Amino acid sequence: MDTIKILDKKFALSISERDILAAIDNVAQNMNRDLKGANPLFVAILNGSFMFAADLMKRLDFPCQISFVKLASYYGTTSTNNVLELVGLSENLNGRTVVIVEDIVDSGLTMTKVIDLLKSRGAGKILISTLLFKPSALKHDLKLNYVAKEIPNDFIVGYGLDYDGYGRNLKDIYTVVK
Ligand code: 5GP
Ligand code: MG
Repeated sequence: MDTIKILDKKFALSISERDILAAIDNVAQNMNRDLKGANPLFVAILNGSFMFAADLMKRLDFPCQISFVKLASYYGTTSTNNVLELVGLSENLNGRTVVIVEDIVDSGLTMTKVIDLLKSRGAGKILISTLLFKPSALKHDLKLNYVAKEIPNDFIVGYGLDYDGYGRNLKDIYTVVK
């Protein structure tokens, strides 16, 4: 189906499952070339990255580990600032090569915060892999090491990404119809 409706919005098919998987093949080839012997820990950011993480990991042929984390924000008791925390990361990161697995980089704020949190846990080299990247939305100074696909600055759903919790189950990616 080329057009779908989720809640109040219409979405049109924009990246087929076949094109998504071909882009992931390409990222995996680059990782298989670069990360042999690095013994990396992949850190996948839930919820959005679950499909990307699964299809990427199946294509890697070197020893590696993966951990799934959630970014949680809460209000500290002594300050009014909200504090971000990585929930679910129990591995020792000391000096470890860490590869972040993200669904989409938009302004880059989330990735900047995740990098700070991983550094504060002692991570060594930190690399970013993302399924999607909106170059025209980027506002932070970030080096993205592995990008499967660049997309325009429009809202998308599917293949793990949601609109108000729905649409994560779609195997293709859809763009909102304005
Ligand atoms: P950033 O911090 O880079 O501005 O935003 C990253 C986060 O915003 C992503 O992890 C994702 O959760 C959400 N996001 C950004 N753009 C989109 C989009 O087009 N669709 C969906 N579903 N989420 C998005
Ligand atoms: Mg995300």
